Amino acid sequence: MKRDYYEVLGVGKEATLDEIKKAYRRLAMQFHPDQNPGNKEAEEKFKEAAEAYSILSDPAKRQHFDQFGFASQGGQGQNFQFDPNQFAGFEDLLGSFFGGGGGGIFADLFGGGGRRRSGGGERGSDLQYNMRISFKDSIFGVEDKEIEIPRQDACDTCKGSGCAAGTSAQVCPNCRGNGQVAVRQGFLQMAVTCPRCEGRGQIIPSPCPSCRGAGRVNRRTKVRFKIPAGVDQGQRLRLQGEGEAGTGGGGAGDLFILFDIENDPAYERDGFDLHRKQEVSWPLLVLGGNLPAETPYGTETVKIAKGTPADKVIKVPNAGVPRLRSQGRGDLFLHLRVAVPTRLGAQEEALVRQLLEPGVDGQPAEEGFLAKVFGSDKGKKKKKR
Ligand SMILES: [Zn+2]
Ligand SMILES: [Zn+2]
Repeated sequence: MKRDYYEVLGVGKEATLDEIKKAYRRLAMQFHPDQNPGNKEAEEKFKEAAEAYSILSDPAKRQHFDQFGFASQGGQGQNFQFDPNQFAGFEDLLGSFFGGGGGGIFADLFGGGGRRRSGGGERGSDLQYNMRISFKDSIFGVEDKEIEIPRQDACDTCKGSGCAAGTSAQVCPNCRGNGQVAVRQGFLQMAVTCPRCEGRGQIIPSPCPSCRGAGRVNRRTKVRFKIPAGVDQGQRLRLQGEGEAGTGGGGAGDLFILFDIENDPAYERDGFDLHRKQEVSWPLLVLGGNLPAETPYGTETVKIAKGTPADKVIKVPNAGVPRLRSQGRGDLFLHLRVAVPTRLGAQEEALVRQLLEPGVDGQPAEEGFLAKVFGSDKGKKKKKR
């Protein structure tokens, strides 16, 4: 018959999470397999406490248990399965209690949870490289970029094992591979990191001469990759396995390239759209016609309709930034700006003066004609001509 979880932990039904944690820690200490080698009963008690804790420390599971008891787990509770996600919780709990470096003990108990430290090695660190690139490179991408970064790489001589040729690492005899040893302090037993192997659970009897057993060496390494077309300010590119080498067979970390994009004098980016100012002569706005407009992909001819307002924004479809992870590009928006000539030849000046001469009804021609160009309200209200 299975014991009630509250009974197992020795707490009341109203116990707070903190009380539940404390009760579990006390039991975990007492029945820890490391402190009770070969004691099957202690191991059972330890598992029982761990199971009770896994349920009562989870508010949803606890509520379910309060309501339905063991029926909630199907039958008599014999089929109870540990949620593997609980391992991390256990390790963290014990880590904070035993002063870091748990893992091995639980891996032993529960048949490995992925984070086993003893003998399993550690994954290398992730690295980040800040990369400033030109606006042009952000639009078109770079097919083959090469950078050189300082990082810890696996030692070539020992291929990262840290062992001299023909030898291999051995299970630490001091902690039997657990990475931790029990130390008695008064009447308390504490698990501390094994001083012989420093928690690795392994020792290297004859270290590799190149890396002195570290398995890794510092060096400057060239890394090549592709900058995708359309990358934006602050985006990160992940290069899997290009971070630092792991130890003892643990995989390499990742390298993240963080992009910082130089401003462009002409273009402003907004998502995948681009904006730029476009100078245009007012006669072209008045009469309409073709306007050659610069885009990142070359010059495009943009049609200007007759009587286009001077502050119009013209969309050039598909002339924006390439969309990352999909097809096509954003759009380019041309914000029109009337080009006013500062120097006029005698003939040109005469022509402009003619435009300012009073019209047939005594109103300056400007009211009807130039207003179309410059968008004057006055001109819109008075429809004289
Ligand atoms: Zn080496
Ligand atoms: Zn050891």
